[in-house]
Amino acid sequence: MRELNIVVCIKPVPDSRYWDRLSLDPRTKTLRREGIPTVISPLDKNAIEEALRIREAHGGKVTVISMGPPNTTEVLAMAYALGVDDSVLLTDRAFAGADTLATACGLVSGIRKLGKVDLVLLGDQSLDGSTGQVGPQVAELLDIPSITHVDKIDFVDDDTIRARSRIELGYMVIEARLPCALAVVKEINQVRLTPVDGALWATEKTTKQWTATECAVDANTIGSKGSPTYVPEVANIQMQRKAEVLKGDPATIARQLIEKLKSAGVIEG
Ligand SMILES: Cc1cc2nc3c(=O)[nH]c(=O)nc-3n(C[C@H](O)[C@H](O)[C@H](O)COP(=O)(O)OP(=O)(O)OC[C@H]3O[C@@H](n4cnc5c(N)ncnc54)[C@H](O)[C@@H]3O)c2cc1C
Repeated sequence: MRELNIVVCIKPVPDSRYWDRLSLDPRTKTLRREGIPTVISPLDKNAIEEALRIREAHGGKVTVISMGPPNTTEVLAMAYALGVDDSVLLTDRAFAGADTLATACGLVSGIRKLGKVDLVLLGDQSLDGSTGQVGPQVAELLDIPSITHVDKIDFVDDDTIRARSRIELGYMVIEARLPCALAVVKEINQVRLTPVDGALWATEKTTKQWTATECAVDANTIGSKGSPTYVPEVANIQMQRKAEVLKGDPATIARQLIEKLKSAGVIEG
């Protein structure tokens, strides 16, 4: 098996443990993230894990790439701590305010600048936006095959992979020539714990930071300028929870619960 150049796209997302502190800015129609720690989107950690396993089995190089504000370097340091070889941050005002297509255009400009790439791995969907559109868009823009919902990757030979893609009632097995883009689900692997020497490795490594000009990308295809969609309105959902404690023996509680679920229209009967 020849050694592969693997690129993993990782999205910086607000740590879900602090989501109660998130709010919407009604003017800019974006999330207010100040003071909320940023982490690697969970499925992107599965994508990193898979890339590391392929490198361990066949050799090669794993590069992570992210598009985000300058403090995303902290998230990329977490990827170094897991054991990736290199990292790139695309950071520039011109990339800001991107919808999914403009995000994919930005990422593709960085992937192209990296040179020859055999495999692009992504999360099947991000923790926050969760559209699942970026993976297939990246593949389309790179003009390479795209497979989503991937929970298993095997190599048929040096230039062909066989991926298992989850569908509603089972799975499909798909073969594709390299280079290709694969969007992975959490069932693909168990993400390793950060190794003891990972933090040390991370302090020794630096992240390359590239601007839109350095990526030679058409400014009309990235950021808010390159976004064909826009957000006309955002609203905070008012959660109205009514806590009620049912008392009595288990059979009485179960009867009360069924009556309450029926009267709330949750179950029929
Ligand atoms: C008009 C508009 C304006 C927006 N403005 C902003 C804004 O100002 N600020 C903001 O934070 N969001 C903004 N968003 C949201 C932004 O478009 C999405 O966060 C982004 O396009 C990715 O979409 P997603 O999260 O659904 O990705 P998905 O398609 O669900 O992600 C799949 C995978 O793609 C990869 N990926 C996705 N995004 C990135 C990334 N940035 N870097 C590396 N890999 C990535 C990851 O591997 C991820 O697991 C805006 C959206 C719209 C429509």
